[in-house]
Amino acid sequence: MFGFLKKVGDYTKEAVSAAQYLGQGLAVTFDHLKRRPITVQYPYEKLIPSERYRGRIHFEFDKCIACEVCVRVCPINLPVVDWVMNKATKKKELRNYSIDFGVCIFCGNCVEYCPTNCLSMTEEYELAAFDRHSLNYDNVALGRLPTSVTSDPAVFALRELAYLPKGVMEPHGVPANAPRAGRLPEQVLATLAQPPAATTTEQTASNPTAANPTAADQGAQS
Ligand code: SF4
Ligand code: SF4
Repeated sequence: MFGFLKKVGDYTKEAVSAAQYLGQGLAVTFDHLKRRPITVQYPYEKLIPSERYRGRIHFEFDKCIACEVCVRVCPINLPVVDWVMNKATKKKELRNYSIDFGVCIFCGNCVEYCPTNCLSMTEEYELAAFDRHSLNYDNVALGRLPTSVTSDPAVFALRELAYLPKGVMEPHGVPANAPRAGRLPEQVLATLAQPPAATTTEQTASNPTAANPTAADQGAQS
């Protein structure tokens, strides 16, 4: 009898938790019912990529020192650095540089570790091609800067979700001067550059003499 009651209790508990999970899932569905569909009329309209978007890599030939760090840090050793040694100057001379975007996984390691910052990620994502071999970009193709969505006169730029004002889900019809929800990179940097006021206050509270060593020294002398 006791075993039967325990089984009924367990079954009830499981049924209640299953109903709870169903309710949570349906809550997300009902939340989306209130939202309007967002259709981006690509290619006449485009979403502005986020600041840290990892798109096609840009390369500056004149800054490259042919150190091959980018090759060593690449998970698939992808960049091809073609250089020769100049015996007169005893320095490497770069001849060609290429990255095959048909193979690249856009991890950004090469950009991160390049000692001369000659590599950078752009916001270009339109890399469709009929022949995958045409995605093997040489230093000339890599040196081209893409047209940004916001400066292309043929494109109506739409703000991506992170750029919309707080609570707004629909990018159409949002005025350009509407404040965005997140902070711009320069605003984040300005905040980081400020002295940590909270830390200083905490230190003063925990060790008042450390905050004013001159007064402490005076007290010890007298
Ligand atoms: S890491 Fe930078 S400087 Fe070195 S070879 Fe690669 S692109 Fe050139
Ligand atoms: S982005 Fe990543 S995969 Fe592509 S070339 Fe650089 S390191 Fe290699």
